[in-house]
Amino acid sequence: MSLSRIGIVGAGQLGRMLALAGYPLGLHCVFLDRSASSPGAQVAPILTGDLEDAAQLALLAACSDVLTFDWENISGKALAPLEKLTQVRPPRAALEVSQDRMAEKALFSRLRIPVAAHAAIDGKHQLIRAIRKLGLPGVLKTRRLGYDGKGQFVLRDLSQIDEAWAAIGGPGLIYEKFQKFSRELSIVGARSAAGHTEFYPLSANTHGGGILHYSIAPFGNPELERRARLYLKRVMNALEYVGVLTIEFFVVGGRLIANEMAPRVHNSGHWTIEGCVTSQFENHLRAICDLPLGSTRPLGHTAMINFLGNLPDRERLLTIDGLAFHDYGKEPRPGRKLGHCTILKSRATERDSALADALKSIEWT
Ligand code: AMP
Repeated sequence: MSLSRIGIVGAGQLGRMLALAGYPLGLHCVFLDRSASSPGAQVAPILTGDLEDAAQLALLAACSDVLTFDWENISGKALAPLEKLTQVRPPRAALEVSQDRMAEKALFSRLRIPVAAHAAIDGKHQLIRAIRKLGLPGVLKTRRLGYDGKGQFVLRDLSQIDEAWAAIGGPGLIYEKFQKFSRELSIVGARSAAGHTEFYPLSANTHGGGILHYSIAPFGNPELERRARLYLKRVMNALEYVGVLTIEFFVVGGRLIANEMAPRVHNSGHWTIEGCVTSQFENHLRAICDLPLGSTRPLGHTAMINFLGNLPDRERLLTIDGLAFHDYGKEPRPGRKLGHCTILKSRATERDSALADALKSIEWT
């Protein structure tokens, strides 16, 4: 049976770019989101309601051949009944693992993928013990629902324990040893139900305050690339994954240390829209609809810059040769991802100077 009706839980910019990638393939997306004016709703039909509303989820499933996600934090309890109604891709197990930083690290470790030394924290005394054992500096994070650096506190000194606890203290935390990384990299890949895989080149990501500012790709380190693919493939196969999956890494002493995974298309893969034969969005749709995966071959050297808190001067940026502008149609708010631009050049040096030029117009607020 051909799968052509896709229900997307969450209608943020990721959902919007999925729906846009679906049109040329004749795939039709329907969203569920709280807001009828969310980015996805501007390009495809939407059901409105809470993302865990059982009745709305069942309605979305009933009008879809396959259900997928713009937002991965839907509880397993809300998802389980939907598996009887339609295909849920990626699988529920992948979402559940990625919702909990401890479960994620346990999976990575079981698959012999290196992670930062860490400990589960449910009280202040446990934190003190973990700091004694693992040392400082370290990062205290919420195990669940943390994203873009939210729910995190970097501890550099014992005197900061009370401050950290006041900021995010409570049960359900993790303390991680701080990684003195030379780079942050991510790999995005797609897996079909039949087990076929395709991998994009590594992206090198620059963050500010825990949120992605810009990426460049391909990163171009064959040894790290080979290892990142190996790790991503291990996770995909272990979870019998279908769709696009991302792993973010720190590079420490030339080794990859896995930080976290995202069971979906990823901000660090936005460059693939203009920068690869087939984008991450199209390949996610191809994978979940049982269509052949497309080539992930890069078309040149790219940079992707996030627009955070405000949109930059579009007219000025569009004078840069090889630049594509993406406005997600969101209301400005400090720290909010409102859009991005991608620069595609045939040489890395040209890309780097165009990136420097574009950055003059960007202010992250
Ligand atoms: P996360 O939400 O885990 O992706 O963290 C957001 C960002 O915070 C990462 O991309 C890093 O820049 C920084 N960060 C998180 N965990 C660590 C760590 N253990 N060591 C150093 N930096 C970290």
